[in-house]
Amino acid sequence: MSRFWSDVVHGLTPYTPGEQVQIPGLIKLNTNENPYGPSPKAMAAMQAALNDGLRKYSDPNSTAVKDAVARRFGLTREQVFVGNSSDEVLAHTFHALLKHELPLLSPDISYSFYPTYCSLYGIEAVQVPLNERFEIDINDYARPCGAIILANPNAPTGIALPLERIEALLAAHPDQVVVIDEAYVDFGADSAIALLGRHDNLLVIQTLSKSRSLAGLRVGFAVGHPDLIAGLERVKNSFNCYPLGQVAQAGAVAAIDDVAYMEQTSQAIIASRAWLTAQMAALGFETLPSHANFIFTRHPQHDGATLAAALRERAILVRHFKAVRIDQFLRISIGTDEECARLVEVLRDIL
Ligand SMILES: *Cc1c(COP(=O)(O)O)cnc(C)c1O
Repeated sequence: MSRFWSDVVHGLTPYTPGEQVQIPGLIKLNTNENPYGPSPKAMAAMQAALNDGLRKYSDPNSTAVKDAVARRFGLTREQVFVGNSSDEVLAHTFHALLKHELPLLSPDISYSFYPTYCSLYGIEAVQVPLNERFEIDINDYARPCGAIILANPNAPTGIALPLERIEALLAAHPDQVVVIDEAYVDFGADSAIALLGRHDNLLVIQTLSKSRSLAGLRVGFAVGHPDLIAGLERVKNSFNCYPLGQVAQAGAVAAIDDVAYMEQTSQAIIASRAWLTAQMAALGFETLPSHANFIFTRHPQHDGATLAAALRERAILVRHFKAVRIDQFLRISIGTDEECARLVEVLRDIL
């Protein structure tokens, strides 16, 4: 607290990210980072971008990145917005598109940054409970609202909503923006980008942090109707005209173009996820069906917080949320096969 703070600062509830701690030999399964490195082509492109050109400002419009996204998904440049992480793209989205007379709807259990943006931008929100299987039921969204935001697959549950459900939601709300946050879509879910041609109220947001293994580069993007993108550009250009430097733009283009590498590493993670889920079941854990690079799991006889603490003592970090309905669960990122095997071994020991 400080007497110099403006009023809005007192009312904020900042997001708490998963810890980034330095423990020797630590197995870090708490922030959904990718265990495989970024595309070698992206690394080479970033090395090549370290040159005298850094003297100058970067392209404010990240045109090359927009064109890479447009190429990948068969879109036009005008349908693409690029930001310094998808968290930044989300922030501009809340600011530009989600503040209306009627409340914003989102699931009660979802990415916990959404309520933070609501508090920052003064957006009234209603949290719609997931059903008893921790799924989003779109019938629960049939109510007056200003806009809707969902993560698909949802976080931290990992459960994916089928595309036809998303299309029904879009059709039921033709005058509201529906935002689909697809941070984890490449790990086995279907992207709503396929629906863009038919729905001008759809905005899809993706990140290079998870399936492109570039969490440290901070690049995200949104795709949607050019009018939605133009709204985002107005906010972005009232905030920071140069959100991406040249190195990030070069790395992002190469990473997006290297589809084969992304698919190969994502397939490896999907295979490890299946192996880990089976091993966890053998230990008595109940795991929600995941389409993400993490699992959300609980043990009927062991408290979630206690298990997370016991793992931490043995140098394995997982994420535990002290929140209603989910405080018995652990969210465990999929690591390398060695890391997954070590986790199972340590859990067997703890149990
Ligand atoms: C990781 C994550 C993000 C943020 O990604 P960044 O681009 O690293 O900011 C956004 N949404 C969800 C649901 C995530 O899990």
